[in-house]
Amino acid sequence: MLKKLRTPLYLALLIPALLAFTDFLTPIDHVFWNVRYKLNQHPANASTVIVELSADGEHLDSATVASPRLARVLEQVRRQMPYRVFVDAPVKYGADVAGDRQLGKTIKDFGSGVSLVVRSQSVGSLDHEFTYRDFRMPPRALSDVAPVVVSVWNANFLDYAVSSPYSVKVDGKDYPTFAAVLAGAKAGAQETFEPDFLVDPASIPRVGEDSLLSGAYTPGLLTGRTVVVTQAGNAPNIGYFGKGRLHPLAVDIAGASGLAKPFALSLGQLPLLVLVWLIVRAGSRMALRRRKVALHAAATAVPFVLPPMLQLIGITVDVGAAILCLCLYGGARVWQLRVRRVQHTSTSGLPNLLALSAHPFEVGRDVIVAVIGRYEEILATLPKDLHGECARQIARRLSVGSGIEAIFNGEGGHFAWTEEARPLEMQLNHLEGLRALFSAPLQIGAFTFDTNIHFGLDRNEGLDAQTRVNSALASANDALNSGRSVELFEAERLAEASWELSLHARIDEGLRNGEIWLAYQSQWDMRRGEPCGAEALIRWNHPTRGPIAPDAFILQAERAGRIDALTYWVVDEAITAALALNAQGRHFQMSINLSAQMVDKPSLVANFAEIVRRRNIDPRLLTVEVTETSSVRNRPAAVQNLSQLRAMGFRLSIDDFGTGEASLAYLADLPSDELKLDRRFVSKLLTHDRERHIIRSTIGLAHALGQTVVAEGIEDEATYRALLDLGCDVGQGYFLGRPQPFAEFCQGLLKMGQRQSGVV
Ligand code: C2E
Ligand code: MG
Ligand code: MG
Repeated sequence: MLKKLRTPLYLALLIPALLAFTDFLTPIDHVFWNVRYKLNQHPANASTVIVELSADGEHLDSATVASPRLARVLEQVRRQMPYRVFVDAPVKYGADVAGDRQLGKTIKDFGSGVSLVVRSQSVGSLDHEFTYRDFRMPPRALSDVAPVVVSVWNANFLDYAVSSPYSVKVDGKDYPTFAAVLAGAKAGAQETFEPDFLVDPASIPRVGEDSLLSGAYTPGLLTGRTVVVTQAGNAPNIGYFGKGRLHPLAVDIAGASGLAKPFALSLGQLPLLVLVWLIVRAGSRMALRRRKVALHAAATAVPFVLPPMLQLIGITVDVGAAILCLCLYGGARVWQLRVRRVQHTSTSGLPNLLALSAHPFEVGRDVIVAVIGRYEEILATLPKDLHGECARQIARRLSVGSGIEAIFNGEGGHFAWTEEARPLEMQLNHLEGLRALFSAPLQIGAFTFDTNIHFGLDRNEGLDAQTRVNSALASANDALNSGRSVELFEAERLAEASWELSLHARIDEGLRNGEIWLAYQSQWDMRRGEPCGAEALIRWNHPTRGPIAPDAFILQAERAGRIDALTYWVVDEAITAALALNAQGRHFQMSINLSAQMVDKPSLVANFAEIVRRRNIDPRLLTVEVTETSSVRNRPAAVQNLSQLRAMGFRLSIDDFGTGEASLAYLADLPSDELKLDRRFVSKLLTHDRERHIIRSTIGLAHALGQTVVAEGIEDEATYRALLDLGCDVGQGYFLGRPQPFAEFCQGLLKMGQRQSGVV
């Protein structure tokens, strides 16, 4: 139960319900009512007419009115036979004895028809016990002949009137409030009543003092009406919803209008809160998205539509709690959806590895990551809309096999879950069993795939969830690469694994801050005995790990999915270097290495075409070296891509020839311009007859196919001469020049030229 109360839905009920007993919701109600009354008000009924005394220039205190002047005005009003009169102006009494007497007489002549209004001189929240000091009480002579009514308003935090009591005690004596008397109301069931802000105060009929005295107003306007004789500025203004700050008389009249309604009930915050929450809850339980949206829209509309409607029949409800409920629930949902989006794999809709590592694991659980072999290849053959189904089907199979419901889906065919730790032997057997489940092909739509699966297992209980998932993931990748079915995560590999996993960001950083750079190694035309080109070789001087061998981090970059970015960066840099070299008047060929992972990518040709266009270069400047490796996944696509690059003008070179599994097949498939003899053959040329034969016949074969032969790894003069004798065209190796930074490479060119002339 307690757990349930902590869900966004129940918190959206509880928090506003608790706040409803405090003043925290007042700002929401304030804004709501202000807007609501700005949009719609209706004219006041004409039963009350205001007679406005003009500002009296003679007196500094213009908020008081001299007694003879008031007597004159009241006399004029009396002639119109009003229903009753309220004097809402402090009288300057005692200065003019004749005038005071005249005023007393006029009031007496009215019978009991005149009341005197006194106003609180401060605006704010009230308790209902006052002293005479809070008011400008009229002189005894007047209050003896005319009853006194009091105007006081409870105000909210911005001094907007919200309610009034029916009567107040001033120094122990009861006085009715002005609005209550205006409405002829006795204290109702409730202690206070609320003004009816629907009344537009500008529509209350008014007559100015001068018009009244000169008779210039609608005849009969005052007859039979309630007349309020008032003096502007006699009390501080107070907030009137929809209108801003006004003289409190407007609120008194609105208060009387509120009381005059046949039915008035103020329900407070809770009823609307409960109603809105029930609709929200109904919406949250709907399975159908359309109904869910409709109910949530209804819940949102209710606080804006219902209160104005209820108001028409005299029921006031506060909206603050309901609106807060909607905001809390809506905010929590938006947050949940965001988290959901971050924690789900978009194609399959399954929770991702981030979601798995978001919470600590229970004690005694193993973390298992499964990786599907050839996953990218499977996806490449499937239409896009079946990608999600493919992942879901694998997850289902794993779920059935492991008896675990929650399978998490990472990118690149990784699936992860946790299960109760068994003894290692049992766990390995269990995973072997799961592997057997995948001997049956996957059937996705009309497509059938054979696949295999590898597992990474982490049993390091003490470590945090994120580390454990990463560890299992790294082990699964190791299993995939080594072809083993299960790889157990060794704690010592932890640092290595986290390094591998953060490689993505580190490569970008390395490219930015110059840790990754290109070395250039010269290539020599052996017959002419001079440099004719260079190979660009990537280098990484890591600040803490020192120089990292390209073989190692290229492999990691491939795994981390950063090889494309890295390669295009190399191409760009190498082009800059080649253009600089050729600007010195030489014809220099620049070789770059293309990862086996990239050669079959659909975007390869377009990207190279874009580079040619952007850098405005002759593609013949660049030689693209491809390692004839068996790890190319889609061989026909690779052959097509490379043929297209060659057709565009790029030179194509087969690197490390003789080391791969399908050298000859590659040579047959792929129209290439160059063949690079691997240094493993070259280094044995002088000592091993076998290698010498292989080199000799390879050179013959390459020449027969019209290709140039480049020998790599020439480390001494004797090897150089032997290769020259065998007819090799181009040489590369430490003897001719080590890979160097570009500046040193340029300087070295000259020196090498001199040394070479000594060689040949
Ligand atoms: P590779 O393309 O076969 O490059 C030749 C490698 O042989 C280089 O090693 C070079 O330093 C080394 N080498 C050159 N002359 C001699 C020699 O006389 N004796 C010996 N023992 N070695 C020599 P490096 O730079 O360590 O590169 C290793 C491999 O890394 C490269 O082999 C290439 O496959 C890969 N690589 C380097 N840069 C890139 C790149 O930008 N992109 C890709 N995809 N792979 C690259
Ligand atoms: Mg190479
Ligand atoms: Mg090579």
